[in-house]
Amino acid sequence: MSVSIDGFLKEAYYYRETYKGVQCMICPHLCDLKEGQRGICHTRINIENKLYTEVYGRACALHIDPIEKKPLYHFYPGSTCLSVATVGCNLSCKNCQNSSISQAMPSSVKAVYLPPEELTEACTKNKCNSIAYTYTEPFTYYEYTLESARLARKKKINNIVVSAGYINQEPLKELCQYIDAANIDLKSFDNDIYRRISHGTLQPVLNTLLTIKEAGVWLEITNLLIPSLNDDIDKIKDMCKWLVDNGFSDNPLHFSRFFPSYKLTELPPTPIKTIIEARDIALNAGIKYVYLGNVPQVDGENTYCPSCKKLIVDRKGYDVIDTHIINGKCEYCGYIIAGVF
Ligand code: SF4
Repeated sequence: MSVSIDGFLKEAYYYRETYKGVQCMICPHLCDLKEGQRGICHTRINIENKLYTEVYGRACALHIDPIEKKPLYHFYPGSTCLSVATVGCNLSCKNCQNSSISQAMPSSVKAVYLPPEELTEACTKNKCNSIAYTYTEPFTYYEYTLESARLARKKKINNIVVSAGYINQEPLKELCQYIDAANIDLKSFDNDIYRRISHGTLQPVLNTLLTIKEAGVWLEITNLLIPSLNDDIDKIKDMCKWLVDNGFSDNPLHFSRFFPSYKLTELPPTPIKTIIEARDIALNAGIKYVYLGNVPQVDGENTYCPSCKKLIVDRKGYDVIDTHIINGKCEYCGYIIAGVF
């Protein structure tokens, strides 16, 4: 159903009144907003000293995707999810591939009104077993994500967030009660680079990883390697060591190849040699499942058993060709494969 939604508002969660106006508490930016001002994410506005989201149910993208596209490789491999997004992001990454919706104003992008009831119905009708809140930043359309996820959980539909992980702890913990799987983008292991690439900071994202894991949500991590920005080998080593030291060795790590985009058109694609080196570093550090994205010319998408080393999920692009995981174990040696199968 396509309807006019200009002016569609819902009072936001997680904000407080201040002597200047209101302060949004969703993410570490903690935007202080005077009357009429919008947050950095463009989607939250102070009206008469109440904070409103302008994107509740305002779906600007809706697609059926293979779960591998998120990427999630250890969460019901071969299944499909209904992907949804609204306008808005609290970061402004120079390499953003969805800048036309992530950096836009709500009223400037065509959208359909798709409240949680209709979103979950669309998921069931299209025989998807998950809803993925993705493409832009699900934590900036927090109220829509939370209420949809709450309803989806009641209907036994899985909820997936694909996010940059830039959120405060309290709203994250509430949301985690309804989330089944997440892919979090860890952009760099260097705070200055984090600021330069995305205008965010590293520590809140690390906190997000820890909280999601502690909440028992299935977690996979993506690291896009951008030449000259975050491809420093020592930093990749530091990142892998932190992940292993903090209990993430069973959580798949997806290194992704950069291609020139948005504000980084002057940089070359990531050399294949760099991405292969990153995989070796991660495997040597003790991360058991390491994947390479956007590199079809090398074997980077398949799953190998960490114990017997046999191929247990054969993938071509986003398609699963064959699997050898039975009841969550390697068919050949019985090793328990981390994930939800
Ligand atoms: S969610 Fe948006 S308005 Fe709220 S603190 Fe973050 S950037 Fe600011």
